[in-house]
Amino acid sequence: MFGLGKKKFTGIQIDHELVEEIEDIAKESYPIEFSAMLQGKVEKSVLKINGLIFLPGAASESGAVMEIFMMPMLSDAVGSVHSHPGYSAEPSGADLQFFAKRGYFHIIIAQPYNDDSIRAYNSFGELVDYTIV
Ligand SMILES: [Zn+2]
Repeated sequence: MFGLGKKKFTGIQIDHELVEEIEDIAKESYPIEFSAMLQGKVEKSVLKINGLIFLPGAASESGAVMEIFMMPMLSDAVGSVHSHPGYSAEPSGADLQFFAKRGYFHIIIAQPYNDDSIRAYNSFGELVDYTIV
């Protein structure tokens, strides 16, 4: 059981169309990192991730995450997604600091930007299970 504010959930689901969108944007952005906030809600004890929130100026050649770090937390944002121009989806030190402060669920997608190169982390930087629905 996890907590998201006052709401509790036992599992995480990501909409498959959203996953495809994330993969497409990561490919198009390469070699630049893209980043966005993840939109979602808790329904029947499941955290359902179903949208992206793009923030102005969130794409840059370096420190993409640090730019959205400065933005106020949006009410239905539950976490973040960003791409890595490389084959490692391991969070960097800056990523971990960001995860700790902005939401519960964080996706990193590495090359080749497919379902198998996606890793999801909680706010402590620990790997989290999810299902694509
Ligand atoms: Zn990163």
